[in-house]
Amino acid sequence: MSIAMPAPDQATLAKRDRIIAAMRAIVPGEGVIVDEAALRPWESDGLTAYRQPPMLVVLPETVEQVSAVLRWCHGEGVRVVPRGSGTSLSGGALPLADAVLLGMGKFKRVLDIDYEDRVAVVQPGVTNLAITQAVEGRGLYYAPDPSSQIACSIGGNVAENSGGVHCLKYGLTTNNVLGVELVLMDGEIVRLGGRHLDPGGLDLLGVIVGSEGLLGVVTEVTVRILPKPETARAVLVGFPDAEQAGACVAQVIAEGIIPAGMEMMDQPAIHAAEAFVKVGYPLDVGALLIVEVDGPAAECDHLIEEIARIAGTNGAVTTRVSQDEAERVAFWAGRKAAFPAVGRISPDYYCMDGTIPRRRLPEVLRRMEELSQKYGLGVANVFHAGDGNLHPLILYDANVPGELDRAEEFGNDILRLCVEVGGVLTGEHGVGIEKRDLMPEMFTEADLKQQQRVKCAFDPALLLNPGKVFPTLHRCAELGRMHVHHGALPHPELPRF
Ligand SMILES: Cc1cc2nc3c(=O)[nH]c(=O)nc-3n(C[C@H](O)[C@H](O)[C@H](O)COP(=O)(O)OP(=O)(O)OC[C@H]3O[C@@H](n4cnc5c(N)ncnc54)[C@H](O)[C@@H]3O)c2cc1C
Repeated sequence: MSIAMPAPDQATLAKRDRIIAAMRAIVPGEGVIVDEAALRPWESDGLTAYRQPPMLVVLPETVEQVSAVLRWCHGEGVRVVPRGSGTSLSGGALPLADAVLLGMGKFKRVLDIDYEDRVAVVQPGVTNLAITQAVEGRGLYYAPDPSSQIACSIGGNVAENSGGVHCLKYGLTTNNVLGVELVLMDGEIVRLGGRHLDPGGLDLLGVIVGSEGLLGVVTEVTVRILPKPETARAVLVGFPDAEQAGACVAQVIAEGIIPAGMEMMDQPAIHAAEAFVKVGYPLDVGALLIVEVDGPAAECDHLIEEIARIAGTNGAVTTRVSQDEAERVAFWAGRKAAFPAVGRISPDYYCMDGTIPRRRLPEVLRRMEELSQKYGLGVANVFHAGDGNLHPLILYDANVPGELDRAEEFGNDILRLCVEVGGVLTGEHGVGIEKRDLMPEMFTEADLKQQQRVKCAFDPALLLNPGKVFPTLHRCAELGRMHVHHGALPHPELPRF
């Protein structure tokens, strides 16, 4: 546990009873949770190494309630942490001891499906998969598909700009969201974007997607829905080592083929997945690629032939093309179950998320192996190879004193390595608390201050999800140009330097 969170505000804790009464007046019934035992299930998200029961949980059901909760908290200087389904792997939804945890789980309705314009308007608590389920009867689907899609909410996807296997071809959340309704910390309800592409003015929607609950609470999302491709076929390609698999990935893209998905697993991940789901992955290879193509059948056949040719020139030792839908789904079953599969071979694992230029993959894998030796901890690699997004799973045992700290340090070194080779700290899991203190590895102080000015424009009192993303949060008065009116300084209570 090496990450420090903001110290709880004692004045807020002292007025907890008054806060509870105010929240109950806004959200009547069972929408306010305050008992110690009942708060326990909310104490962490997917980054379970970090736990902190919230001061209280509020579960609003309407946008008016969200607005009233935020307005009241804003007036009283009370911090708020928004939460969807709590599957974040970077601690973005970790509660604070002195904050209201605002759970959006009751916003579960699909509000409108416009088949002509191919958009769906949904509430933020709707799960990612439920959007596809709502439209699949008409041959449509929602493209971004995080592996957590059965549980994660679309509001959380917007906040994290989530990705998935099919984002290589169809784009991340940001490329598939057309509009949001958002409640700002002072209670104002705003709409950004709509049912159409390219709204006028500054791209504020682009700022909101990936803003990790720091700028506002999303209360409605408009997404694009796409026609399901006529055909989808997958090919499993085994290589003696990851270097050759990496070279194959680079050549496929360089030759102008954009597969619907292109995923890689290293040997530990292949063995763990095969032992778990038994789909017939080859066990005598050093790296496995799963490449999927979709579109008209003739195009798929042609692309599969091309991919098999490129794989051959890069030393592939096994190539297996799915013959029917059941086999294609089976190929993916191992990949989709890779995380729980690794959970069976190690008491605990720490899932990292960084992105590198594809051509640096062999070097990064080699250096990760050296780090694995240095820290004395195993690592299994599963990644979205097509877009260079790595998910190293560091194996450790939380019951062995010091192993969690070692795993975190190992993970930090991997992320530093990603930045060193020209990549970025996160691919799709967000910064949260996990990568917060590594932000200066990638951004200068000037960069970080500029990002914080955006935060200040939306939430000048810094009440929304504090302690996340920014390693140090400067007070907004320190960052802005000061307007001195008749000699009166704004925020006279703040020290001036
Ligand atoms: C097994 C597993 C596999 C995963 N696979 C993937 C994957 O393939 N791709 C991927 O991208 N991610 C993946 N994730 C991570 C996670 O599922 C995503 O980040 C997801 O988008 C989080 O959604 P959530 O509803 O659980 O959000 P939460 O975890 O509840 O919150 C995440 C962040 O969003 C904010 N937030 C949530 N709702 C709102 C809202 N309505 N308004 C404003 N802010 C909000 C929170 O404050 C927090 O900062 C995986 C997680 C697990 C456990």
